[in-house]
Amino acid sequence: LTALLEHEQDLPSQTPDGYKVPLMVNTGLTVDVVALLKSRISGVGLYRTEVPFMITERFPGEKEQTRLYRDQLESFSPLPVVMRTLDIGGDKDLPYFPIEEANPFLGWRGMRVTLDHPEVLMVQLRAMLKASQGLDNLYVLFPMITNVEEVDEALRLMERAIEELGEEGIAVERPKVGVMIEVPATIYQMDALAKRVDFFSVGSNDLTQYLLAVDRNNPRVADLYDALHPALLGALVELAQDAKRLDKPISLCGELAGDPAGALLLMAMGFNSLSMNAPNLPKVRAAIRRVTLVDAKQLLDEIMQLDTPAQVHAHLDARMDAWE
Ligand code: PEP
Ligand code: MG
Repeated sequence: LTALLEHEQDLPSQTPDGYKVPLMVNTGLTVDVVALLKSRISGVGLYRTEVPFMITERFPGEKEQTRLYRDQLESFSPLPVVMRTLDIGGDKDLPYFPIEEANPFLGWRGMRVTLDHPEVLMVQLRAMLKASQGLDNLYVLFPMITNVEEVDEALRLMERAIEELGEEGIAVERPKVGVMIEVPATIYQMDALAKRVDFFSVGSNDLTQYLLAVDRNNPRVADLYDALHPALLGALVELAQDAKRLDKPISLCGELAGDPAGALLLMAMGFNSLSMNAPNLPKVRAAIRRVTLVDAKQLLDEIMQLDTPAQVHAHLDARMDAWE
């Protein structure tokens, strides 16, 4: 089956009724299969900048970061690369910047850390901007946003970075900026967020954890952690509708996008692109190439009538088997 799927990898990610779904990849360290991947994807939907930071012994300096980011941007150019600012805290600690808290996932995490340490964020933004000189594929994404003021503050720092570089004789363009929708509070602030940013990216891994109040890494409650929970699906339907109404692109970069059934549902909801770990591309592409948009929408309608996660899984399994 893998060989069969592999065979399809150079074919478009398009349904039999002609609906195209851009597939993107999540990256961390530079992928050495870039050349092969590039022809098969629409870009990098999530570059987790904390990953290279995890293997250094201190915060990489501006020069070092500029090199890292340039490498990503150049490797995938002209395709878009969505670079997320540092998302540490929660389960991702840097050895040289330990954070000890009773509830790390509800604590000092992502933007909360970098807004408290603007010097860290400024270096990162300056490096991203410098790296994008002469290219126009940089998109910047802010993680763990809860309040609109956090976006305003991050945008102020972005303006400042652009100004500083200008004063140093380095002219850079303002990149497109987006926020992660991963804290439930943001579901209800889409209008206010849309006034400030260019795009949305749903982090279903964290949105699942926070909406269901289930630690994403705790094996004891792993049975309860389910991105296909009816509550999650309801939120995702609303998010896609809101983004459309607000005329802003919305993508999803959590594990759900890499699950074939999940990808079909997201397509039916109207998500504009799906970003996943590269190994999931073949099966997601295969699912999209086999199921029409009309059928996927029908499936979504059926799924939205169900009451429990178990019913959702049973129904999806039955349909997916029939489509194989
Ligand atoms: C997510 O939360 O879904 C996400 C993509 O980000 P991370 O897994 O890095 O928290
Ligand atoms: Mg997240």
